[in-house]
Amino acid sequence: MGAVEAARLCEALDTLSPVSIRYNPYKSSRPVGGRQVPWSRYGYYLEERPSFTLDPLFHGGAYYVQEASSMFIEQLYRTLFTEDRSPRVLDLCAAPGGKTTLLASLVGAEGLVVANEVIRSRALTLADNVRKWGLGNVVVTNNDPAHLGAYEHFFDLILVDAPCSGEGMFRKTPEARNEWSPEAVKLCAARDRRILSDVWAALRPGGFLIFSTCTFNEEENEGTLRWLLDEYEAEPVEINCDPDWGIVCGQVDGVPTFRFYPHRIEGEGFFAAVLRKGDARLRERVPKPRKSLFAEPNKMERAELVRWVGQPEYMQFARVGDSFYAYYRAAFPAVRQLSEGLSVVTSGVLCGGLYGGKLKPEHPLALFHDLAADVTSRTDLSLEAALDYLRKKDIDPSLLAEGINLVTYEGLPLGWIKRIGRRCNNLYPMGLRIAHL
Ligand code: SAM
Repeated sequence: MGAVEAARLCEALDTLSPVSIRYNPYKSSRPVGGRQVPWSRYGYYLEERPSFTLDPLFHGGAYYVQEASSMFIEQLYRTLFTEDRSPRVLDLCAAPGGKTTLLASLVGAEGLVVANEVIRSRALTLADNVRKWGLGNVVVTNNDPAHLGAYEHFFDLILVDAPCSGEGMFRKTPEARNEWSPEAVKLCAARDRRILSDVWAALRPGGFLIFSTCTFNEEENEGTLRWLLDEYEAEPVEINCDPDWGIVCGQVDGVPTFRFYPHRIEGEGFFAAVLRKGDARLRERVPKPRKSLFAEPNKMERAELVRWVGQPEYMQFARVGDSFYAYYRAAFPAVRQLSEGLSVVTSGVLCGGLYGGKLKPEHPLALFHDLAADVTSRTDLSLEAALDYLRKKDIDPSLLAEGINLVTYEGLPLGWIKRIGRRCNNLYPMGLRIAHL
C-alpha cells in the first residue's frame, strides 16, 4: 500500500464507524428508509446508532446488528449456491453469531448450519443469539476444531472466520490497537493454520471453504491461504464482485481474495477468500456415536406437539430427557449424528416439557419463526409495557387472557407470560432480561 493510501486508511480509522443492521427475512421486512449494504439483500445502514437495548424488535430477533463488511459472506454464498440448494454448513469460529444468523437465513428450512465456538462462555452467547434469531435450522456446538474434523466429508461449506490480530477493528474496538503486536500476528497466523488443518477433512470433495479475518496483514491472510494451497488439494472459484463496491479484489494462485478497507467502503476492515476442495475421495464418515440422545415421542405426545408449529409436516419431533425438540425433518439425520459425537449447546427448537399431556412451552419456541398462530392467546404490548416485560417486571393482568399468553410487540413475539387470576408470572428468561435503564 502506498503512502497516500496508508494515510487515507489511518484517517478513516479515526472516524466514527458506520452503523448497520441485517434484518431477519423470516420475521420482518426491510427497514423503511435505510440505505442498503451493496453486497447484502438484508443489510442496511442506519443514519445513527439508536439504543438497540431499548428496542423490543431487537430482542425479538427482527434484526441483528452487524458491521457491513462481514455481510459479504452473503455475496459469496449466493455465488456458490443457487436458491434451490440446501447445504450443510459449518461455521467453525462462530461466536457471537453474526455470520451464523446470516447463514441460517440463507440455507433455509432444508439446510443446516452447525455453529461451533471453542470458548464455552462465548458458545452460550452464540446459543442465545441463535435462539433469538429463531429459524430452527442451527446446531450450536462447543468443541475443538479437531472434533469437527472427525466428521469426514460431512459439510458442503465451511466458514473459518478466524481469530486474528484484529487490525480491521482498530476503529470499532479501540482495545484492538493495544492488543496488537508483531508477535500476535505470528501467533494468529500459526493458530489459523492449525485450525484449518484440523477441520479440512470435514469438507466434502467439491465443497467450499471460506476463510476470513478482520485483519489486513499478508502473513495472516495471503500467507495462510498460500500455506493451505501448498498443503491441500484446492482449486479457485469464480466470484462476482461489482467493481463499484470499492472492494479490493486480489488472488493467490488464482484463488480470489477480497479486502475491505474503511477508507474505500462503508464498513470495517475485513478479508475473505474462497476455494473449492479438489479431492476425489467421496465417502462421508462420521465418528462412532458416543451416546444415544433422541427418543421418538409417542402418538399422544406428537399430537400435542404438532399443534404448536405452523407447518408440522416439515418437522421431526424428538425427546431428549424430559424435553421435546422440533427439527426440520430434512436435516434431522445429520443433527442426530452430530449430537451423538459432539458437545451440543442447543439445536433445533426447544419446545418444552409435557405435563398431563399439555406442553409447557419454553422461551425458544416463542421466538421460533413458525410458531403456530393461534395456539395460545396473544397480547400485543405498547413500547413501555414491552420494555417492562423484557425487564421481567409485572404486566397489568387485565391485558392478558387467563393462562399462558404470547407477548408480542408490533406483532413480533417476545416470549411467554402466564396469568393466574389477578397475578401474572413473567416467563421471560432471567439471563436475557434487560437491565434497568
Ligand atoms: N464469526 C463470528 C461472527 O461473525 O460473529 C466472529 C468470530 S471471531 C472473528 C473468532 C472466534 O474464534 C472467536 O469467537 C474466538 O473465541 C474463536 N477462537 C479463538 N481461538 C480459537 C481456536 N483455537 N479454534 C477455534 N476458534 C477459536
